[in-house]
Amino acid sequence: PAEPLPPTARRTRVVVLGSGWGAVSFIKNLDPQAFGERGPYELVVVSPRNYMLYTPLLPSAVGGVVSENSIVESIRKIVGDKGTYYEARVADINPATRTLTCVKEYCEVCAARKHSGHTEADHTFTLAYDIVLCSVGAVNATFGIPGVPEHCWFLKSMEDASRLRRHISKAVEHAALPDTTPEQRKKLLSFVVVGGGPTGVETAAELYDLLAEDVARSLPQIKASCSADDVSITLVDGMDSLLGSFHKEIQTYAGEVFHHHGIKLRLGTKVTAVHEGHISVQLKDGSLDTVPYGTAIWATGIAMHPLVAQLQARLPAAVQTSRRGLLVDPHLRVLGSQGTIFCLGDAAVTGAAPQAALPPTAQVARQEGEYLAALLSKNRLALREDADVDADPVGEELVPLPPRAKPFRYTHLGALAYLGEQKGVMDLPVKTPFLKTLRGYLGAQAWRTLETFMQISPRTRWLVMHDWMRASLFGRNVSDI
Ligand code: NAD
Repeated sequence: PAEPLPPTARRTRVVVLGSGWGAVSFIKNLDPQAFGERGPYELVVVSPRNYMLYTPLLPSAVGGVVSENSIVESIRKIVGDKGTYYEARVADINPATRTLTCVKEYCEVCAARKHSGHTEADHTFTLAYDIVLCSVGAVNATFGIPGVPEHCWFLKSMEDASRLRRHISKAVEHAALPDTTPEQRKKLLSFVVVGGGPTGVETAAELYDLLAEDVARSLPQIKASCSADDVSITLVDGMDSLLGSFHKEIQTYAGEVFHHHGIKLRLGTKVTAVHEGHISVQLKDGSLDTVPYGTAIWATGIAMHPLVAQLQARLPAAVQTSRRGLLVDPHLRVLGSQGTIFCLGDAAVTGAAPQAALPPTAQVARQEGEYLAALLSKNRLALREDADVDADPVGEELVPLPPRAKPFRYTHLGALAYLGEQKGVMDLPVKTPFLKTLRGYLGAQAWRTLETFMQISPRTRWLVMHDWMRASLFGRNVSDI
């Protein structure tokens, strides 16, 4: 543990941006003494969301298996006595002055009066920092494809999941009305998922379970199996297989399971535009086609967060060359930030480290958070006392690291995905053939066990476990509350 500073000494202010995987892993693993009242650090957490969301279970929330409240934990509980939390959105990081411009999430004047006369300046405050941990994540990738923001549903936030769940419930109820024509019913119940990565695959799988089991049971007037006329689920992906980052055998298996479910696969098919009621696609041979939909769900991965783009523009262009995020050194320090900004999670690009660029997963963000927590807790990082910001040439470190500080090393622990109808897959980095690619019922059980075990807190672990039991005993939530 770090040595406590005498009460008069200035503490290093560490400001954490975000309340997602990277930020929470960092905060949870901090040494409470180093970040306590008499420790060398002062911790401030700034995020517009005052909770952490367990993102891997968002598809299960859409399918009505877990409740949205079961997969969130208060950031105040996580921060505890280690520091202070401010609910605000950081709009600007200024490395030259080491200040953050924060925008408040709520204004009582604007809430009471529509035309309050307030401008953004009335809602901002400035926060000084010595060290920033940028863990703001990323946003949905739309690749500038026309019509996507207007017509598609996304799955990145809790609001996205509850909106989509309610929309599916409304579509099903509408399809069951006596004056709904067979054509209308078919359209209402045609779901298209764009993106065959884990998010798209798990969303299609949970949707399949919901329709084939619960909707079929509670609304017998709807032929809810995917092979029947009323319902269709189509998954579109530009690649030739599902789950591109998984083992080849798992990709083939996932395709077979979806085929068995009756989920239509349009692989090697790139979406070029989304219109009202249909999607324009281009096939591998260059030919064009359309895919009709009632509900289109967009799950094609992630793009750079606007705050990350803004910070990148302030840093030397010669070192910040990635279009995916902020390039970091082997200690996760942002290149060109003079050692004052660390970056982790989806916002960071580790290509400059001795290892290959890491994927934007929760597992990577968690390990990066653990690493930075140990780095700061074990060493007393501080702004150099002789630091003269104006005189410092770019590249000179303002917050030096101890010479023997170890670089970040990632250990891949494997990947899991749920495929529907109690089937799942687990891709483990081991040589044993049976364990390397665990599939089927055992794969689903492994997935469920790990998603429960990896929960944010004992409270959410209990709630998620309870939700699985509730869903298997009494069915999924098909109502639109
Ligand atoms: P992804 O990047 O893994 O997959 C996106 C898919 O969309 C790709 O297969 C791509 O070919 C396709 N695509 C992109 N543009 C397209 C277009 N115009 N038309 C058709 N297809 C298009 O995205 P994801 O599934 O959101 O996952 C993001 C990250 O999070 C990944 O690193 C993933 O491994 C991770 N993740 C993992 C899990 C898990 O392990 N269970 C769950 C969720 C997310």
